[in-house]
Amino acid sequence: MRAKTKMIHGGITGDEQTGAVSVPIYQVSTYKQDSVGNHRGYEYSRTGNPTRHALETVIANLENGEAGFAFGSGMAAISSVMMLLDADDHILMTDDVYGGTYRLMTSVLNRFHLDHSYVDTSYPDKVEAAIKDNTKALYVETPTNPLLKITDIQKMAEIAKKHDLLLIVDNTFATPYWQQPLDLGADIVLHSATKYIGGHSDVVAGLVVVNSTDLAERLHFIQNSVGGVLGPQDSWLLMRGIKTLALRMEAIEANTKDIVAFLQGHEKVSTIYYPGLADHRGHDIATKQATGFGGMISFDVGNGERAEQVLERTNYFTLAESLGAVESLISLPAKMTHASIPADRRAELGITDGLIRVSVGIEDSADLIEDLQNALK
Ligand SMILES: *Cc1c(COP(=O)(O)O)cnc(C)c1O
Repeated sequence: MRAKTKMIHGGITGDEQTGAVSVPIYQVSTYKQDSVGNHRGYEYSRTGNPTRHALETVIANLENGEAGFAFGSGMAAISSVMMLLDADDHILMTDDVYGGTYRLMTSVLNRFHLDHSYVDTSYPDKVEAAIKDNTKALYVETPTNPLLKITDIQKMAEIAKKHDLLLIVDNTFATPYWQQPLDLGADIVLHSATKYIGGHSDVVAGLVVVNSTDLAERLHFIQNSVGGVLGPQDSWLLMRGIKTLALRMEAIEANTKDIVAFLQGHEKVSTIYYPGLADHRGHDIATKQATGFGGMISFDVGNGERAEQVLERTNYFTLAESLGAVESLISLPAKMTHASIPADRRAELGITDGLIRVSVGIEDSADLIEDLQNALK
């Protein structure tokens, strides 16, 4: 089954009992047992819920994995994956990981002695040099936010294999429609499903897919023990989102290409970060490991004052954090998503005050371009 068909017919479709073509929302916490210990596959909804199970099955299918897991947020998913590690283990991570992941590692899990450090994973030799005796996992985000840096997943898998590390990939920006990290050698792929998978700015959720029965058993044990599960209504919303994921991603990418072309010709725009551009440092790897470049663009307008003016003047680009929705969003990383990162560290990473990030939606690209044109005047 090809990806577009999987989004409609993959996993569990409809309801056997009634013939309903949509999976019912099983709004239930507990299940009748026919005799003591003799149940029909479900006992208690933290352990398993039929609606959540249908979602977990379709995401496992889409990522070509062994099993899927749905959590109450991307951060709940990431935290649960981190619990596969032990105290005093070291995890090596992409240096510009999502801010929430950075906070989890440096302000929460550090208290449980989970040792971690950051490296620019877009340079494989730097990754190898940063491996320590107690390194047990490699955590990669690609493309990254907001500079859309690309890491070679296959290269990371080679390094992980050589040093016996678990390779974990945050695939939020690419989505399983464009990029399947497990096929490239990763052990675990995870998503903030709040973004493209949900796709409509109406649900907060996280998804994980693992590539082995061993990891599936261990992560299910953690999911059931820690309990950060996704509820049945939100599980249903994600399944609804997945049905149009291919269509949305195609529409978003077509719009993104039009907007990039417009920005390239604009005198007030200096650097443009988009992996689809031939001069982007990660362009060749992005072309090799993904079938699309996505819908995120960052561009520099020179200074913070001008950037803020642009953000205040757009009509169709909503000024908001988050990304990956049908509506276009615009943000200023230095003052919003990345404000908690110290200014010198931001400068090191290349996140300037004039850097604007847009998440392109599915509106008419001509309207989106006019909107940016007016705001940049
Ligand atoms: C948003 C995001 C997260 C966190 O997900 P939540 O659903 O907000 O908890 C993790 N990784 C990336 C790349 C994200 O964009």
